[in-house]
Amino acid sequence: MPITLPPLPWPLEDPAIAEAARAAIADGSWGQYEGRHGERLRQQIRERWSASHVTLCCSGTMAMELALRGLRVQAGEVILAAYDFPGNFRAVESVGASPVLVDVEPGRYTLNPQHLDAAFSPQTQALIVSHLHGELAPMSQLRQWADAHGVPMVEDVCQSPGAASDGRLAGQWGDVATLSFGGSKLLTAGRGGAVLTSREEVSQRILVYSERGNNAFPLSELQAAVLAPQLDQLDAMNERRRLGIAQLRRLLNERSGPELLLDDSHGAVFRAAWRQPARDEEVARLSAAGAPVGAGFRGFGRRSSRRCRKPVDLSESAIAAESTLLLHHRALLADESYLTILADLMAAR
Ligand SMILES: *Cc1c(COP(=O)(O)O)cnc(C)c1O
Repeated sequence: MPITLPPLPWPLEDPAIAEAARAAIADGSWGQYEGRHGERLRQQIRERWSASHVTLCCSGTMAMELALRGLRVQAGEVILAAYDFPGNFRAVESVGASPVLVDVEPGRYTLNPQHLDAAFSPQTQALIVSHLHGELAPMSQLRQWADAHGVPMVEDVCQSPGAASDGRLAGQWGDVATLSFGGSKLLTAGRGGAVLTSREEVSQRILVYSERGNNAFPLSELQAAVLAPQLDQLDAMNERRRLGIAQLRRLLNERSGPELLLDDSHGAVFRAAWRQPARDEEVARLSAAGAPVGAGFRGFGRRSSRRCRKPVDLSESAIAAESTLLLHHRALLADESYLTILADLMAAR
């Protein structure tokens, strides 16, 4: 008998979310353009991240574009890692700037600060730093570099809300930070996003850009209503995922299975990553058995030099793009019997 895993639900059934949706429908607030649900969510985000300004919007992808527009990036260059979410590259192009690619750190998914000097030019307008696959970028080093060069930093926290390093939350290092509330994310409303900043003028520019007689990139009141209880529960859920990872690690270790790459000390894990040769066949094998597994990002290293500048060697990003497998976080919330079957499956190759 081949091993198979039962399907796992995402999002989880949650009485607090069900009650929030029911209440929004009962009092008609679900149908309003603006109201107390959005205001409450903004307040929660402001408090948690100590950000003075929060703009809710339609997606994490749009949040990055709005962040760049808020920083008045209209031309010139934006530095980002060659292994990153594809929409970040597009956001740079959308505002009229050109991406400049740097490599990720060896064996990791986060931007290598050692490449920044080679990427910097008089054209540099911004730096995008993403926290990916359960790893946090080396933020104190990156912040130092950004300050020394007068380059504003946009921090992509779409995969890591609640994570912290060196005593600061992911999202508190950047001049601007972005969140996603997409259907697979740790905080989800199916769709949605947010831009966080403590710079008033950045937030003002985003408001002006979004205002077209009405907000053109909105998050709805109903979306905000179902997100509010999830923010209250975020730390507890991250703790559950941390325990799930520790358990899966132990089970994989006992079976000489693959080694998970993430550093789970800082708390928020969207997808647990590992690397294998013949990655696509392995994704197919695990998916066929019902595991919530997919391939990593494709990376930008092969994109035309007409579209982006590549001042440094990008081989670590290429390796990440070719060999990464990702396990969806819903598996980290599963019980031990599920994780045992999963570990058997992952180790059986
Ligand atoms: C999901 C994601 C986004 C974009 O979010 P959407 O809401 O899906 O547009 C951006 N960056 C990273 C790292 C992501 O994982």
